[in-house]
Amino acid sequence: MSSTKKMPPTIFVIFGGTGDLNARKLAPALYHLFLDGWLPEQFALIGTGRTELSDEEFRRRMLDGINEFSRTGKAGKAEWARFSEHIVYQVADVKNAVTYQEFGKRIAAYEKEWKAQANVIYYLAVAPEFFPIIASNLAKSNLTTDPDRTRIVIEKPFGNDLDSSRELNHLLGQIFDERQIYRIDHYLGKETVQNIMAFRFANALLEPLWNRNYIEHVQISVTEQLGVGDRSGYYDGAGAMRDMIQNHLLQLLCLVAMEPPVNFTADEVRNRKVDVLRAMRRFGPEDVRESAVRGQYGSGWMEGQQVPGYREEVDANPQSNTETFAAVKFFVDNWRWQGVPFYVRTGKRMHRSASIITIQFKDAPHCIFPPETAESWQQNRLIISIQPEMSIRLQVQAKRPGLDMMLNTVDMVFDYKGTYTSEAPEAYETLLLDTMLGDQTLFMRGDQVEAAWDLIMPILHSWQGRASQSFPNYSADSWGPEVAEALIARDGFHWFTLPLNGNK
Ligand code: NAP
Repeated sequence: MSSTKKMPPTIFVIFGGTGDLNARKLAPALYHLFLDGWLPEQFALIGTGRTELSDEEFRRRMLDGINEFSRTGKAGKAEWARFSEHIVYQVADVKNAVTYQEFGKRIAAYEKEWKAQANVIYYLAVAPEFFPIIASNLAKSNLTTDPDRTRIVIEKPFGNDLDSSRELNHLLGQIFDERQIYRIDHYLGKETVQNIMAFRFANALLEPLWNRNYIEHVQISVTEQLGVGDRSGYYDGAGAMRDMIQNHLLQLLCLVAMEPPVNFTADEVRNRKVDVLRAMRRFGPEDVRESAVRGQYGSGWMEGQQVPGYREEVDANPQSNTETFAAVKFFVDNWRWQGVPFYVRTGKRMHRSASIITIQFKDAPHCIFPPETAESWQQNRLIISIQPEMSIRLQVQAKRPGLDMMLNTVDMVFDYKGTYTSEAPEAYETLLLDTMLGDQTLFMRGDQVEAAWDLIMPILHSWQGRASQSFPNYSADSWGPEVAEALIARDGFHWFTLPLNGNK
């Protein structure tokens, strides 16, 4: 990667500078943007938190984060020395309005030194309860008045339900224009996720097949081996539906189901995604039982280690009714997708960590070969593997070598590792750069967030209203509860998993 655009002077104010997100994601991403020449000469990073730190101590924390989490390993001495000159720290309690005047003074001092106005990006790497107070205090201190030069970045969760997301959008909307608000769903910054759009809309051969006439069903599966660990304090109030399906999985579904945008501008792309969410069939109370299932992991063994069940994790409620697994059958009621089921599932403590989209095509209309030729006959599948393997594979039938006519399934594979030598940037590098460039294509718009909440609220209400009697209902290192198998088996399908070597 190398810079092609001249970036204006830029100041990042990172609220939660002493926290995990900054160490793990933001510091390494900004460092790589610096190394690759994307940051302007006139660049400053102001980290903040309540912890008393000198500039030097804060820089040391940033360096520790980079050394531990950077995709290219430890920072080089000379490179770090040049980068660290841009970093300062300010002790600040976000609730204290006076400290915002300090930010104002620092920003003004940089602008004076640079003899130029700067773009200022306020990154809220803090718990969501602080979003309103920070936004209000920024406004009170007149730090957000220029919509062309000030932006705010917030991390999910964007509310905890439809009402709270509306409330948050309303509050932000009183202070910022929508074009200033960058809601990060880091999934959208992943290379493989961005490539779904390139694959669909830069290739003519897919479009004629991409509809109910040829596609039988779609599966989106995002599974994790990790349990909640010490995040149970947050997770217990969320669960798999809020934490994963409302955002990441529905966004993947939108990328598969959206109509071609007229162009690749932020609002065009986001309009087409919102169209999908609006077209999705709503659930009545009876539909929830039919179309959505939940699970919670019990204890078990993973890779030779004994692991606790969800209710035994640190801070978890021993009677918790929170789901750590969810699977839903959705329909998109429009001309393109009428009658095509979209199955999505996500879970923690699953047998393998993998994010896969599978498009299963309809069977060939007529088989001209004798039945015994097709021992391992399988419908065509397009498999988009987002992580850990980054690939797109098309599964087709082929003749097995030999004198007789036998068919089997083979993969035509586009594999990132085999095709490109350059390493893919981390999602946060893409997203932070887009924030600086003012490109909102990969960020969630307020109405997108609300449409996704609106869709899943009946499921959340139904689940909140009846505690599960069967939790825990799947063991660690499994593929989730039996009810999830039954959900898809009722329609004659099964959940697809990519073998570890990817080649079956
Ligand atoms: P964290 O490690 O607990 O950090 C929280 C930060 O908030 C600390 O820097 C803390 O600084 C600061 N803070 C708390 N109260 C404050 C106050 N009154 N005034 C000023 N600063 C205050 O949390 P995190 O994991 O970084 O997560 C931050 C946000 O990012 C959350 O919304 C989370 O959901 C989201 N997120 C995190 C990750 C991740 O990988 N960690 C990934 C995606 C999203 P002091 O203690 O110094 O005050």
